[in-house]
Amino acid sequence: MASDFARTLRTAGVVGAGGAGFPTYVKASSKAETAIVNAAECEPLLHKDIELISHHAETMLDGLELLMSASGAKQGIVGIKRKHGAEIKLLQAAAAKRRAIKIHPLDDFYPAGDEYCLVYETTRRTIPPGGLPLDAGAVVCNVETLFNAARAEKTPVTEKYLTVTGEVKNPVTLKLPVGLLFSEAIKLAGTTPDESMAVIDGGPMMGRIVTDFSEPVTKTTGGLIVLPKNHPLIQRKAQQRPQFSKVGRSACDQCSFCTQLCPRYLLGYAIEPHKAMRTLLFNPAQAPQHNEYALLCCECSLCTLYSCPEGLNPKSVCVSSKADLRAKGVTFKNSAIKQLPGQGPHPLREFRKTPVSRLVARLGLSKYKERKTGFSEAEIKPAFVRLLLSQHVGAPAKPVVKTGDAVLRGMVVADVKPEELGVPVHASINGTVSEINSRYIEIRA
Ligand code: SF4
Ligand code: SF4
Repeated sequence: MASDFARTLRTAGVVGAGGAGFPTYVKASSKAETAIVNAAECEPLLHKDIELISHHAETMLDGLELLMSASGAKQGIVGIKRKHGAEIKLLQAAAAKRRAIKIHPLDDFYPAGDEYCLVYETTRRTIPPGGLPLDAGAVVCNVETLFNAARAEKTPVTEKYLTVTGEVKNPVTLKLPVGLLFSEAIKLAGTTPDESMAVIDGGPMMGRIVTDFSEPVTKTTGGLIVLPKNHPLIQRKAQQRPQFSKVGRSACDQCSFCTQLCPRYLLGYAIEPHKAMRTLLFNPAQAPQHNEYALLCCECSLCTLYSCPEGLNPKSVCVSSKADLRAKGVTFKNSAIKQLPGQGPHPLREFRKTPVSRLVARLGLSKYKERKTGFSEAEIKPAFVRLLLSQHVGAPAKPVVKTGDAVLRGMVVADVKPEELGVPVHASINGTVSEINSRYIEIRA
């Protein structure tokens, strides 16, 4: 049976604020030995989790204690990069007043925040292949998720912290109403976006390219990185299957650098992107045997945007291989690679971690990295917001209001059935419902 805390999280619409938006009440309903805070924030240029720790460390730790209590976890660990000395001191002082919480400094590598890496770094346990942190006795939440969880009793999720950076005048981390348009968020960083620009929604490695600036901020938006459309990173990320397949087929020399630096391979999992690349040479009927090496890919993009000396796209080959295999009914659970014996972490793993400073240079982002970003929690009062009905993993929420209804900030405007996986969506401003369609609810102030 769900605990009061889990019910509160569902009612308040709390979802993972640092990833795909998995409903947090499910994690709070599970049993774990260790609760881990993912404060690694390993995507270059993003700073919102560190800013939250800087300004709200106690609230975040309150959320961690609630999670520990609900899950039965005997210890709490905050995984944060060693380079954030001031925030580590702050956390250590706050943790000293609490029971069984320790701060674990991490190296500055990418992807330190991948759950498989984080669980290994903080507990020295490995998650079974294809498994979840819970399979290694851990429940993992990111900083903002726990910040929201601590406030859930009184405050539903109607605001989002995110970093706006890149080709903007004043890079900044802001607290914004959920549903604010990207264009408005970018203007708050001092720049009006135009057709020469593209924005990466999320980090430069795992974020998606957006050219429509009327997309709204959701509960999972972690950052907006504005870049010229002709920036090499935008060009690389925009590659489509015919292009990367054709180039990969002719240019991959099987050097295996992509595999040698792959974070999942280095942890001992049966993922070998250079073998997935071989499938480009075969006809589809022969492909699945080799494609299976893509099944444990976490889509971190390191192989594509950092490791490959030929500028090829093994990550996208893995993603498309996984889709092909799914269509044929092959998943990790019924794959041949599941039978392979576990290797354990690679003896050279420590020496093959990818330093973020090198990654930033390779991505052509050094000039942005050097900029200091500001922080503001000033209240933003937009003319309207658009609240996506699907901001979380699970069933999309269904509107419970109609056009013309007056709503107050914090009121539920869309909900999911009790038996469905998902959470409600709340109004993020006071106003009137001006439009409802299959994708969003618009509220005008
Ligand atoms: S690093 Fe590039 S060239 Fe080398 S095996 Fe991987 S995809 Fe092929
Ligand atoms: S994207 Fe590449 S480097 Fe990352 S897990 Fe997948 S194969 Fe490995």
